[in-house]
Amino acid sequence: MGTYVVTGSASGMGRQATEKLRAAGHGVIGIDIKDAEVTADLSTTVGRRAAAEAALAACGGVLDGAVLAAGLGPIPGRQRPIAQVNYFGVIELLMALRPALARAEGAKVVVIASNSTTTTPLVPRRAIRALLAGDVDKALRAARVFGKNSAAIIYAASKIAVSRWVRRHAVTGEWAGAGIRLNALAPGAIMTPLLAEQLADPKEAKAVKAFPVPVGGYGDAGQLADWMLFMLSDAADFMCGSVVFVDGGSDAYFRADSWPVAVPARSLPRYLVRFFGYGRSKP
Ligand code: NAD
Repeated sequence: MGTYVVTGSASGMGRQATEKLRAAGHGVIGIDIKDAEVTADLSTTVGRRAAAEAALAACGGVLDGAVLAAGLGPIPGRQRPIAQVNYFGVIELLMALRPALARAEGAKVVVIASNSTTTTPLVPRRAIRALLAGDVDKALRAARVFGKNSAAIIYAASKIAVSRWVRRHAVTGEWAGAGIRLNALAPGAIMTPLLAEQLADPKEAKAVKAFPVPVGGYGDAGQLADWMLFMLSDAADFMCGSVVFVDGGSDAYFRADSWPVAVPARSLPRYLVRFFGYGRSKP
């Protein structure tokens, strides 16, 4: 049986994942701002450091996996904590936990992203780039021009940035090379306290209800936790840097032809460009 860290363990999908891991016999070190083994505020650098130190002490320096589910929804007025928790609350914690994950045999990490990554229009590249560069103020400035929609924009930017961080790092020697499988899960609208808070606001509710979901309704937090457990299991040994959408079809609805797309030749190593004969004849 393994030892796992779950952030956001007090509510919603993180809570479901915690309960299911425990029911399967694993040990879970829950991290949350309330009601957890480790209570810490992941919106601050100090809180993230304290959370990592406490988790590392509790696991004895070896971790079989982690679920990064703590997050804030796109509620207006919370732009800074959204960026802090949803992006820095994931990546700073993961960097601190990485040595403990590397000490385990075949550790797995699941980061909870969102289908807002591909279904929110006009997210400024500047905001995403700024987050990836560690500059939260610049990211917030880039989102501010969207006025009342800036919370939704910074929410999507935080989830795009965290997904890119996952994909960039998953394939490196420090992660794949150290035997750690790093992947992301991108849910659509899932019935949790986060969504309930959005639905309690008439304006937000109108936007959520008008959003196309081909299968209809909302997702179930327990089912999303089942996906997390699957992505923490040996079934994910060959899974690396994937972003799995479980969103009732909204991503496919908007972007049926956008993915998969071929890699541009400029991103390929030279020998592959030669192998495929680019430049010699047109396909
Ligand atoms: P939730 O509100 O039920 O749970 C989120 C948890 O994060 C809570 O326990 C909360 O206390 C914790 N948290 C928030 N701020 C924190 C902080 N500063 N420090 C420590 N913990 C903090 O929400 P949920 O719907 O289960 O969301 C889980 C994840 O899924 C989030 O990252 C969210 O962005 C993402 N997500 C949710 C939906 C949805 O529709 N519910 C859709 C896509 C993505």
